[in-house]
Amino acid sequence: MLWEKNVRKVVPYVPGEQPNKENMVKLNTNECPYPPAPAVEKALKEMAYDDFRLYPAPGADDLVASLADYYHRKPSEIFVGVGSDDVISLAFLTFFNSDKPILFPDITYSFYEVWAGVYGISFEKQPLDENFRIRPEDYEKENGGIIFPNPNAPTGILEDLDFIESILKKNKDSVVMVDEAYIDFGGKSAVELIDKYDNLLVIQTFSKSRAMAGMRIGFAIGNEKLIGYLNDVKFSINSYTMNRPSLILGVKSVEDAGYFEECTRKIIRTREWMKEELKRLGFEFPDSMTNFIFATHPSYAAKELYEYLREKNIFVRYFNLPRIDNYLRISVGTDEEAQILMKALEEKIGGRV
Ligand SMILES: *Cc1c(COP(=O)(O)O)cnc(C)c1O
Repeated sequence: MLWEKNVRKVVPYVPGEQPNKENMVKLNTNECPYPPAPAVEKALKEMAYDDFRLYPAPGADDLVASLADYYHRKPSEIFVGVGSDDVISLAFLTFFNSDKPILFPDITYSFYEVWAGVYGISFEKQPLDENFRIRPEDYEKENGGIIFPNPNAPTGILEDLDFIESILKKNKDSVVMVDEAYIDFGGKSAVELIDKYDNLLVIQTFSKSRAMAGMRIGFAIGNEKLIGYLNDVKFSINSYTMNRPSLILGVKSVEDAGYFEECTRKIIRTREWMKEELKRLGFEFPDSMTNFIFATHPSYAAKELYEYLREKNIFVRYFNLPRIDNYLRISVGTDEEAQILMKALEEKIGGRV
């Protein structure tokens, strides 16, 4: 099989499993436990076959316009793609072309390393400190670009805008991407910094806070020059990344700001309750500003708890990776799901702490 030597060989990203069991409590991939906005459901029911028959608008203009309106930006400052995974992947291809390594944390969204691999981009992982915090001074060396999530995943730790600016100030010659997949759960977005820093690309998604992971919608906001370069690459690969139904339903979701804000408020309320309960059971965790909690227990191995919960049809995420292999990442569900989880944990742990 000589052809094999010319194959691009990569180590792919492994997404969380998508079990489909009756009565399962699914807290393993940070999806929203609530339905999308009512207007989304209504538009879905009214969808016409032309929305399947015809090509979509190549520039996704309506969705771009509604996002521009919501975030008070110009449409030329917004790029949409098939989930933020698609947006970040294209951004790697577009902006990370230096011979110097790109920088990202050692504990972070593990897809960054995979994209660097598939595109042949050299990288240097920067270790988080012992409290799982990003050390800004690690990002002062020469680099070919920087990416980190804020809040970081899977730690859940949020940094403020002064912190983001401290990194931007030292890196005016490379593109800095802030992956804000979880920013809607109580954080402050760096979007307001794009007027000040033309090398800042902020990336967000409809998957976590807008209950639309299945529709695959993500977007980037940045200086119009950055967005122009992203569009050039996109139109060199696939003009029609976004399908018509996603574009239509995405607009409906953005238009219902009230519903969106109510949903995130509910998730934050449940998260805070889960923090108290987990603490009561002896868990320790960094203070999360996301829709998940990254928790460890001094007397029970995370892997054991993961397997115990699985038996009970409760799915959480366990990463068998250096430094974090004694942690569980638990998504925030509905109040009812959170209660089922706590009851199961209480049965295992209660009394022995
Ligand atoms: C979930 C997630 C994404 C990707 O989300 P999409 O569903 O592709 O929009 C990107 N970055 C981080 C940190 C995430 O947790």
